Amino acid sequence: MAWDFETEPEFEEQLAWMREFTREEIFPIETLALSYEDVLKVIAPLQDEVRARGLWAAHLPPELGGTGFGQVRLGLMHEVLGQSPYGPLVFGNNAPDSGNAELLAVGMEMTGQHNIRERWLDPLLAGTIRSGFSMTEPNTAGTDPKLLSTTAVRDGDEWIINGRKWYTSNGSVADILIVMAVSNPDAHPYQGSSMFVVPVNTPGVTIVRDVGSMDDPTVVYGRFGNHAEITYKDVRVPADHLIGPEGSGFMLAQARLGPGRIHHCMRWLGQSQRAFDMMCERALSRFTHGSLLAEKQTVQNWIADSRAEMHAARLMTLQAAWKMDREGAAAARVEIAMIKYYGAQVLYNVIDRSLQVHGSLGYSTDLPLEAMYRWARAARIYDGPDEVHRQTVARQTLKDYRPSEVPTEFIPARAERAREKFAEALELLTAANA
Ligand SMILES: Cc1cc2nc3c(=O)[nH]c(=O)nc-3n(C[C@H](O)[C@H](O)[C@H](O)COP(=O)(O)OP(=O)(O)OC[C@H]3O[C@@H](n4cnc5c(N)ncnc54)[C@H](O)[C@@H]3O)c2cc1C
Repeated sequence: MAWDFETEPEFEEQLAWMREFTREEIFPIETLALSYEDVLKVIAPLQDEVRARGLWAAHLPPELGGTGFGQVRLGLMHEVLGQSPYGPLVFGNNAPDSGNAELLAVGMEMTGQHNIRERWLDPLLAGTIRSGFSMTEPNTAGTDPKLLSTTAVRDGDEWIINGRKWYTSNGSVADILIVMAVSNPDAHPYQGSSMFVVPVNTPGVTIVRDVGSMDDPTVVYGRFGNHAEITYKDVRVPADHLIGPEGSGFMLAQARLGPGRIHHCMRWLGQSQRAFDMMCERALSRFTHGSLLAEKQTVQNWIADSRAEMHAARLMTLQAAWKMDREGAAAARVEIAMIKYYGAQVLYNVIDRSLQVHGSLGYSTDLPLEAMYRWARAARIYDGPDEVHRQTVARQTLKDYRPSEVPTEFIPARAERAREKFAEALELLTAANA
C-alpha cells in the first residue's frame, strides 16, 4: 500500500537549507531596486553556493548538469524558491530560459544533433546568453495554436521565417529567440508546425517594442522581464536551427509546458504562503472597532478559506507531479490542466484577501502585495487561460460518460428494477406482514 505524504529525510534537509537561504539571502535583494545587470553581479556568489550544493538547473537531466530529481522533488523545491521573483534566477531555472533549455535538450535527443549543446544549450545554462519563446501572435488567438500564421518555408539549406509575434517575454534582452512557425500548411495543424532557433541579430528580426502591461504600465524598453512585440521579415536561418524533427512544434510545446505548469503552480504556492503569512501577521497586529482583525469572523473566514485552498492546491499539484513521474506528461494531462486554473485562482484569492486585510498599506508599494497581485492576474492567462484548461478537464471527464434518455438515477425506474430483483423477498415480507 504505497500512499505516502512524507518527504525523504535527505531531501527535506536540502529543502530546509533552501528555505533559510531563500529567506536570508534572496528576499533582501528584492528591496534594492537594482538593474538586471547589477542583480546578476549581486547574485553571482549565491549562484555559486547553489552549484556547490548540487542544486543548479535542477530541472535538467544529470547528463546536462541537472539533478534528475523528478517532478515531485522539483515541485517541492519550486515552492520554496518561487517565494521570491529572484529565486529561480539564483537556482538556474528562471523562465523562459529554463523551459527553452528543456526544449533544446528534448530536440537534441530527438535528432541526435549534438552541436545544439555547445552552441546554445550550455551558454543558456551558464547564463552567458538569454532567450525568449516566441509563439503568441497579436492577430491570431493564442488559445488556439492551430490558427498560427507565422510561416517557415524551406529554401535549400535554409528556412525563411515571416510573421509577427508579441508577448515574447525577455525578447528585447534575448540573444536567441525560439520561434514557432507553420512549416507545412498541408499537414494536420498539430503536425505542421516547427520550432526554430533565431539569433536575435539575424537580418529581418525587428524588436518593435516592449508591450506595456500590468507588470509594468510605464514600460522601459530593454528591461529584463518585459514582453516584446517582434516582426520576422524574410528571416533566413540555416536548416540546423530547426529544433527536433520538422513538424514537431506542438509536441515540443507540450513537452515544455507540462513540467512548466507544475513548477508554476508550486511557485504560486510559495507566493500564496508569503501573502498568507503577511495576512496572519497583520490580522494579529491591527486593532479596530473594539478588537483585533484576527477576531473578526470575516477575517477568520479568509484565513481558514485561504489555508484550505492552498492545502488543496498543494496536494493536487504534488499528485499531478507524482503521476507525471510515474506515467509521463500525457497521462497526467487532466491533473495538470486542473492545477493550472485551480492554482492560479488560489494564488489570486490569497493575495487579494491579504491585500484587503492590509487596507491602504496593502495597496501601497511599501509592501510586496500590490506587485504580487499584478503578477497573479497574469497567471490566469499565460500558459493557457483558465477557460481552455477547464474545457480540457470537462472534455476528458465527459469521455467516461454515456448519454441516457432516462437518467440512470431516475427513482421510479430504479424502484421497478428493485421490485423485480427482490420480488421473492418482497412477497415473503408482504405475507409476513399480512
Ligand atoms: C505575462 C505574460 C507572459 C507571456 N509570455 C509569453 C511568452 O514568453 N511567449 C509567448 O509566446 N506567449 C507569451 N504570453 C502569451 C500567452 O501565452 C497568451 O496570452 C495566451 O496563450 C492566450 O492567448 P491570447 O492572449 O491570444 O488570448 P485569446 O486566444 O485571444 O483568448 C482570449 C480569451 O478568450 C477566452 N477563451 C479562449 N478560448 C476559450 C475557450 N475554448 N472557451 C472559453 N473561453 C475561451 C479566454 O478567456 C481567453 O483569455 C504571455 C502572456 C502573459 C500575460
